[in-house]
Amino acid sequence: MITVLRLGHRFERDKRISTHICLTARAFGADEVVFDVRDERIEESVKRITNEWGGNFKVNFTENYNDFIKNFDGIKVHLTMYGLQVNDIIREISDKVNESKNMLIIVGGQKVESDVYFITDYNVAVGNQPHSEVAALAVFMDKFFNGKGIERKFNGKIEVVPKARGKDVVRKGKDD
Ligand code: SAM
Repeated sequence: MITVLRLGHRFERDKRISTHICLTARAFGADEVVFDVRDERIEESVKRITNEWGGNFKVNFTENYNDFIKNFDGIKVHLTMYGLQVNDIIREISDKVNESKNMLIIVGGQKVESDVYFITDYNVAVGNQPHSEVAALAVFMDKFFNGKGIERKFNGKIEVVPKARGKDVVRKGKDD
């Protein structure tokens, strides 16, 4: 089970990027995203997409991210440009997650409180340049799954048939 914890969602400004975190987490192989700020607009739009495109992906909320991280039963990875390079540590993380089964991936927003760096098992950088929580999450997950995370089948009502040009989309009817 892979959970993504999204810290620092700003209700006024972050609806789009937080939705993209959810969609990226889902598409790259995570099971749930937990927020420390409740935003029903995101829960609704992710629910709508999951309903059409399949899978059991969930959006949840915690009132206390500190306790949530401390009590999480599994390997805790904080993505930050200040951490160890992902290529140097990804194999060790994979081995640990294989043993403990669960992984928590933490991504921040504008600023992450310094305590987070000390209550996680790994602080991991996807390059040591600042970029985006969506990019960091996608690259980390792709490396974690050795490129196979994006091949997962979702068995949704809608499925894309890969095509060199144009769009081929299969819609499954009620009887399928
Ligand atoms: N100074 C921040 C940091 O610690 O990475 C950059 C803030 S960035 C706007 C928001 C989030 O994107 C960060 O909290 C982190 O999770 C992720 N992020 C940005 N650049 C990253 C990088 N090079 N490696 C890993 N995560 C990154």
